[in-house]
Amino acid sequence: MKILLAKTAGFCMGVRRAVEMALDAPNKHENPIYTYGPLIHNPHVLDLLKEKGISVIDDIPDHGSGTVLIRAHGVPPQAKEKLKKAGFTIIDATCPRVIMVQTIIKKHARQGYTSIIIGDKDHPEVVGLLGYSDGKGYVIDNINGLDYLPAFEKAIIVAQTTQNTQFFEEVKKWADKKFPHYKIFNTICDSTSKRQAEVKHLANSVDAVIVVGGHNSGNTRRLAEIAKESGKPSYHIESEDELDLKALSSAQNIGLTAGASTPNWITKRVYRSLESLFFKKERGWRKAFFSIQRSLLLTNIYVSLGAGCLCYACTRLQGIEHYFPHVLISILYVLSMHILNNLTGSKSDQYNDPERAVFYKKNKGFLAVLAVIAGSAGLIAAYLMGITPFLILFFMSLFGLSYNIRLVPESLFGGRYRRIRDIPGSKTVLIAAAWGIVTSIFPAFSVSESISIRTVIVFFLSTCMVFVRTAFFDTLDIQGDRIVGRATIPILLGEKQTMFLLKIMLTVILVILLLSSAFQLISTLGFLLAICPVFMSIILSAYERGNMLPGIRLEFLVETNFVLAGIITIIWSWL
Ligand code: SF4
Repeated sequence: MKILLAKTAGFCMGVRRAVEMALDAPNKHENPIYTYGPLIHNPHVLDLLKEKGISVIDDIPDHGSGTVLIRAHGVPPQAKEKLKKAGFTIIDATCPRVIMVQTIIKKHARQGYTSIIIGDKDHPEVVGLLGYSDGKGYVIDNINGLDYLPAFEKAIIVAQTTQNTQFFEEVKKWADKKFPHYKIFNTICDSTSKRQAEVKHLANSVDAVIVVGGHNSGNTRRLAEIAKESGKPSYHIESEDELDLKALSSAQNIGLTAGASTPNWITKRVYRSLESLFFKKERGWRKAFFSIQRSLLLTNIYVSLGAGCLCYACTRLQGIEHYFPHVLISILYVLSMHILNNLTGSKSDQYNDPERAVFYKKNKGFLAVLAVIAGSAGLIAAYLMGITPFLILFFMSLFGLSYNIRLVPESLFGGRYRRIRDIPGSKTVLIAAAWGIVTSIFPAFSVSESISIRTVIVFFLSTCMVFVRTAFFDTLDIQGDRIVGRATIPILLGEKQTMFLLKIMLTVILVILLLSSAFQLISTLGFLLAICPVFMSIILSAYERGNMLPGIRLEFLVETNFVLAGIITIIWSWL
């Protein structure tokens, strides 16, 4: 059973940019923040903006204060002027592709050209474009409308960016035949046509299609229509609550796509619900395996097992024979910290991983006790090794616990950096550093009370591997993190740049592992462990190519990379 997610599903470039600008606005610009008209046609996003104190104004008042965000469709220049005059600061989130059309019209209007705009008369983008035509603009929404146009000495023809390509071709033919001196600019954005072509193709290779997006979103409705035309059962839903699981239960392969105004956290929730549906349908060992995977991930037992395996590999790379207490301490420390951070910082999980959020809410008491027991057991084990290991672990635990706690008074830094987690990029860097310390520095220091070049190399390798893991998960959670105002590495650098950085890091890890082993700076285990960065690179590439989708299987595979390091170390020890 398979779920095929369309590559084009979700926000187009212009909508993504506008939503990101709106979500960042309360922290960057003068409050209150308004959008001029609804930002996009999606009730979930509009509710969310409302929750963040961003309201909609449909009419421009004579006087106002604060910031107004202009949506991706753009507005007439006169509206911008009016907003400025009223006293608002303007954030222009007009899509760059729409700005390009506005610029074409403006430039030609100055030279005396008439603008013929092929589009829907009442669409906000068309209303905006018309404003740039210096009063010499005509909107045509059907082929017959062309016959009523006067003949112009100088005219240009442009299209609304989401216009139907076929209609625009007909207009072109008409102009070539009757008015060959008219200048024609094909300004249709390929994002819409690509999305429609993909859903057509997708529908042919699955048993049912689900289209996610607002019921009043034009482009989502069009996608649902195309899916229906294929003859396959198709469902247009706004969220996972509308999924007809009974109707879908006989489907072997399900295609999933989403409109240009659908945030990926909604698509992700639908994906997870479908994944659970498939899990319920599975039988025997497959069902048991999926169930175990899910439980191990939700409880953080698997991630802590991975930390133990990484510690085992790190101690053997450094030639430390007495590894068991360090492995145990790594498992207990990571288990305790991850559970506690999930318990205290689960707001973003409501968007990124709703199942985890529900699980933590339901089992709060049990998980809190488990975290305290694990943390205390780790400290006792460290104490039995000596006072220095105990103190290192104690301060690391304190630091980890304070991650989500408000430490700085509201009056400082404008109240923006009250918790450690408020520091941009802190989550990824600190998790990686904490794992690096507990898996490589802690064992070395407890054995010899000194740090050698060998330990520095192993610490670097371990920290980088965990950094790649955490930053990759942050990439999957980028929209949810942005909503709760968490500035993770992918939010700071952008998704593409982050993936590029991670691939470079994996290459560096691979080279350092091989060279350090070759020059005997670390044990020969380094040669075998080169499999781990290669394995992670394969996962990243599969994800980028769309062969692997965010969900339990992907998460499990990423965490398995550390377990793999442990298995490789066991094999190396036997050889
Ligand atoms: S559909 Fe194209 S032009 Fe319209 S907002 Fe999206 S990227 Fe911009």
